[in-house]
Parts: sequence; structure tokens; C-alpha cells
Amino acid sequence: VWGAKAIGSIVAGSILAGAVDASIRGVSAPYAVIGGGVIGLCTAHYLRRAGHDVVVLERATVGAGSSSGNAGWIVPSLSAPVPGPGQLGFALRSLINPDSPLYVRAASVPGMLGWLLGFARRCNRRDNLAGLHATAALAAPTMQLYDELAANGVAFEMRTDGILFAHLTVEGAREEINALGPLAEHGYCVPAQPIVGADLHTLEPALTEQVRAGVMVEGERHVAPMSLVRGLTERLVADGVEVREGASVEGFERAGERVTGVVVDGCALPVSGVLLAAGAWTGQVAARLGCRLPVQAGKGYSFSLAVPTLPCRPLYLADARVGCTPIGNRLRVAGTMELSGINTRLDDRRIEAIVRTARGFIEGGDWDGITERWVGMRPMAPDGLPIIGRLEPYANAYVATGHAMLGVTLAPATGRAVAAVMSGGPNPPALQPFRPGRF
Ligand SMILES: Cc1cc2nc3c(=O)[nH]c(=O)nc-3n(C[C@H](O)[C@H](O)[C@H](O)COP(=O)(O)OP(=O)(O)OC[C@H]3O[C@@H](n4cnc5c(N)ncnc54)[C@H](O)[C@@H]3O)c2cc1C
Repeated sequence: VWGAKAIGSIVAGSILAGAVDASIRGVSAPYAVIGGGVIGLCTAHYLRRAGHDVVVLERATVGAGSSSGNAGWIVPSLSAPVPGPGQLGFALRSLINPDSPLYVRAASVPGMLGWLLGFARRCNRRDNLAGLHATAALAAPTMQLYDELAANGVAFEMRTDGILFAHLTVEGAREEINALGPLAEHGYCVPAQPIVGADLHTLEPALTEQVRAGVMVEGERHVAPMSLVRGLTERLVADGVEVREGASVEGFERAGERVTGVVVDGCALPVSGVLLAAGAWTGQVAARLGCRLPVQAGKGYSFSLAVPTLPCRPLYLADARVGCTPIGNRLRVAGTMELSGINTRLDDRRIEAIVRTARGFIEGGDWDGITERWVGMRPMAPDGLPIIGRLEPYANAYVATGHAMLGVTLAPATGRAVAAVMSGGPNPPALQPFRPGRF
């Protein structure tokens, strides 16, 4: 059952019309959240609940980055970071194979060499496992926080049907179960056996006969991503937060180690503190504060597919590395990780590569009639982990980015944690692995 009421579309005008001028409202300057994606919006929500005046500054429109066309999965079970054993070989081979699910564009390599070397160094079991445990610990309160958001009047569409990992071979499904093993210590009920044969196709009639085995991860959820963005925005506006669209942050004003203002459209807006949550652009924004944050874009693509039978729940087509989410009466198909620098260029060959690899998995899909082609930039640090915390040397500048494949999953946990730190609380141990100063 969709968890919360349906909402209409929001236009910039209505957001601005509902906004309250922070300068009229309070005696102190507001906290500025830079970026209207899920991370910025969730953090703004928790900052407001902690009693702060808040303004969200979004260059385009809320959700314009990677928070709209993504797959919408809430999946702490996918806590393993992208760099891992075998990924380096994959990345190197992709230099000559643009169909590869992890694709490094050769022409972009010189511009991101340092980042790529950092990524390569983390492609080992030890770092991957450490990252998995750190991320799973951060994600621990996720489902409870999503329920609280809904209970607190954030209207969004959420379902709780779990996720099914679909494999072409039983052996592949068994490997999946092994990979999920370390999550057991975080309270996950990892299935002991794959689901095979008729049982699988009874559970999920949308899969073709080619798919031989499945791993059902109960307890996972999904949202309609744009409903979450809109729901958060509406709630913020109702709570008196100003959500300014078309507001590109061009620079900062400083006094010693304090940020005193942000510059938007040539005008300085006085602030009490800032949060940099500008997704894949966060490194560029941090550079204007003289700080180095190695954030690159892990570009992903999605499109909408008409199917005769809508899957009962999201499907991970593991052999193709493609995710499928039922949204409305169509299937959103999402995949690929393209390292080609920070740009929103949509390369149709990458969409065609998803179509070629995934079409054998879904019964009767209209693969020649796909619509809503979309590209988004997952913000990625070289170690594949989020970057969350205070941005040294500043006393009142903070960052929350680098959530890679898990921004929707981790947004409430990140928002709550970083808002608590911005409110003067201690840095919780769960945030240690994500400190911005680690680079
Ligand atoms: C194909 C695909 C599928 C995905 N599927 C999932 C999934 O199923 N589950 C999951 O958990 N995650 C998923 N993700 C990842 C998730 O989408 C991201 O991690 C998340 O959206 C990042 O959110 P963000 O708020 O950090 O960045 P963004 O959503 O990119 O928001 C950043 C915002 O900052 C704004 N901005 C930039 N510069 C400035 C500036 N100078 N001034 C003001 N504003 C600025 C931008 O306009 C943008 O709106 C997927 C991603 C992709 C690409």
C-alpha cells in the first residue's frame, strides 16, 4: 500500500509564494542548505525540527540533480561501497567496452586521474568490508526514520514489499547470499537458500523463464523518488522554511574561520552556518571555500518501460546490474555507473546497453518503445563512502554528500545526524568513517 497521500506537482512560484522571508522571521541569520536534492531537503527538515531558521538554496529546481529519476530503493542491504574486489579489472576492461555496467570514459581519465587512483586503491576486500559495516551502521535507523517522516506529515509514496535479486543461475544467487552474509550482524535476516524454479515464477510472474533463481530480501522498501522530493519540499514550506529555486550559490563571505554569508546572484545572504549538499557539484562549491573535496560523478541512466505484468516489487537483475522499480503503471529501469567527469550529457549508447542486457529478463516488455530517458550524477568519493561532517577549518560549514548508489536510502539518517552536529551536538561515532577530513 502506498504509504502516504498522493500529491500534485509543485512549481517554483508556489514554493516561493509559500515561503517566509527568514530575515523578517528571526533575529539570527538562517542556516543555508546548498542543494535541493534528497540529502539537502532531509537535512533542512531535521534542522527545522531542531528549531533553526533554514533556507534551502537550489540552483535549478528541487530534485533537478540525481534525486528524481533514480530507482527509489531504500536498501541498506546494498551497503557495500562501489570500489571492491574485481571492480578494478571491470573498470579497466570498460575502457574498450562502452557496454560495460561500470564504464570509464577513456577521454575523461586525465581530468580525474587522482580520483581514479584513489578508487583503485580501495578495490580490495578489506576496505570494501569496512565500508559495508560503516554504511550499514549509519543506515541502521533508516526504516524507523522513513516511518517518522510519514508520521510527521511528509507526504510521499512508499512501499514495503522487499527487493528480489534475480539471477540467471542458481550459483549466482548463492554468491549473492554469501555477499549479503556480513549484514546478518546488523540485524538482517539473510535468506539461507535461493528461490528456484516454479516457486520463483509464482512469486514474480514478470520474470522470464531465463531467470532461474532469486534471493528475496524482505524488509527493504522503495519510494517514488520525485514524490519524496516534493513531499519534503511541501513539508519544509509548511514549516516556514524558504526553499529558493533558481538560486545558484556563487561564493561565500567569511570572517576568519566562520562563514558569514553566501553569495547568490551577486547578493550576499547573511547565514549562521552552511551545509554543502550540492550532490556531484559539492567539490566545486567547496573549492569556493578553499577546501578540497574529491567528489566525482558516477553517472547512471534510467528510462520507463511498458510491461504487460508489473512486477510485485523492485527487481535487481544481477547479471545485467540493472534495477527495475514499479512506479505508477510502468517499470523504471535504471543502471550503469559511468565515470566520465561532471557533466549531465546523456549518452544514448549507455541506455541501449541497458536495453540489450536487461531485455531477456522481463516478460513482454516494450523495449523498443521506452520513454523518459534520464541521466543523473551520483555523487561519489574515491572510497565510495559518503562525506558527512564539519568542513575544516570552518567552525560553521558542514558537508553531506558522496552517497553514491544510496542517497535515497541514507538521506534521513544522514540528515538527522548532520543536523544534530550542526546544532552543536557531538560528532557521533557512526559518522567517523565519513569525516570530510579523511582525504
Ligand atoms: C540511475 C540511478 C539510480 C539510483 N537509484 C538509487 C536507489 O534506488 N536508491 C538510492 O538510495 N539511491 C539511488 N541512487 C543514488 C541517489 O539518486 C543519489 O545518491 C542522491 O540522489 C544524491 O542526492 P543529493 O541530494 O546528494 O544530490 P542531488 O540530488 O544531485 O542534489 C544536488 C542539488 O544541488 C544543486 N546544486 C548544485 N550546485 C549548486 C549551487 N552552486 N548552488 C545551489 N544549488 C546547487 C543541484 O541543482 C541539485 O539539485 C541512484 C542514482 C542514479 C543516477
